[in-house]
Amino acid sequence: MRFHKAESAFFVFIALVLGAGIMLFFAYGIMRTHDQIMHGSASNHFAQLLFTTGVLLATAVIFGIFFIYPLIRTQVREEGKLRAMTELLSARSESLEHAALTDSLTGTQNRRFFDDALREYLLEFGRIERPVGLMVLDLDHFKQVNDTYGHNVGDEVLRQVARCLKELTRYHDVVARLGGEEFAIVAPNMNHERLIKLAERIRKTIAALAVDAGNVRLRVSASVGLAVWDGKETADEFYRRADKMLYQAKRLGRNRVCA
Ligand code: GH3
Ligand code: MG
Ligand code: MG
Repeated sequence: MRFHKAESAFFVFIALVLGAGIMLFFAYGIMRTHDQIMHGSASNHFAQLLFTTGVLLATAVIFGIFFIYPLIRTQVREEGKLRAMTELLSARSESLEHAALTDSLTGTQNRRFFDDALREYLLEFGRIERPVGLMVLDLDHFKQVNDTYGHNVGDEVLRQVARCLKELTRYHDVVARLGGEEFAIVAPNMNHERLIKLAERIRKTIAALAVDAGNVRLRVSASVGLAVWDGKETADEFYRRADKMLYQAKRLGRNRVCA
């Protein structure tokens, strides 16, 4: 077994104090056997024991002050540095995790987060037999926006649409950008009627957005597909059903909600 420096120092300190204790014990024994007056060798022996005790105690004190205490200080300082480093690393890994699950353009969640969240919501809400609503939303003729006004204006539209989705949804709804100009919203504990109302509100708000593009104010619209979980289908099947509704909305002429 290997001892740490501080442990060895502690053992030496204890040995010194113990040694002093033993010396005192013998001195006490001599004192007891010579109850009255001590003479000759007994007196010498007694004085020697007391002197050794004093030397041991003094050594223990010097050892404590000049060796053990600095060792403790160093360790405390190192522990502080280590703690600061650990905190920094855990903050950094948290921000990395945040970045890995967030869409950098719009600040909404990304596809990876959406996939996990949908699966987890289905599991949890299936257990308590509550509905889960899903909305898949795609901007209409977005390629034209980019082609006409440029990519930067397109990005600004995406940011404004994302902001509007965040504003119209609740805290525990998941708003994610799945890629390009497609977004999804997982709305737990929401039945068909409420989901349609929310989708209509979102659609109208997007249609009312006016994005600055040079000297014109640009308008966009979105098509929305809806589905409420049937309690049996997998996350993938559920998503595909909502996606089919989105394509029906596109087929029927865009800027509409299909459920
Ligand atoms: P539809 O109504 O059928 O959805 O037509 P659309 O033009 O919206 O769909 P399409 O899939 O043809 O084009 C999507 C466009 O979205 C193409 C691409 O230039 C644009 N896009 C994808 N990602 C980004 C992005 O991050 N920023 C910008 N500005 N444009 C993007
Ligand atoms: Mg589109
Ligand atoms: Mg698309």
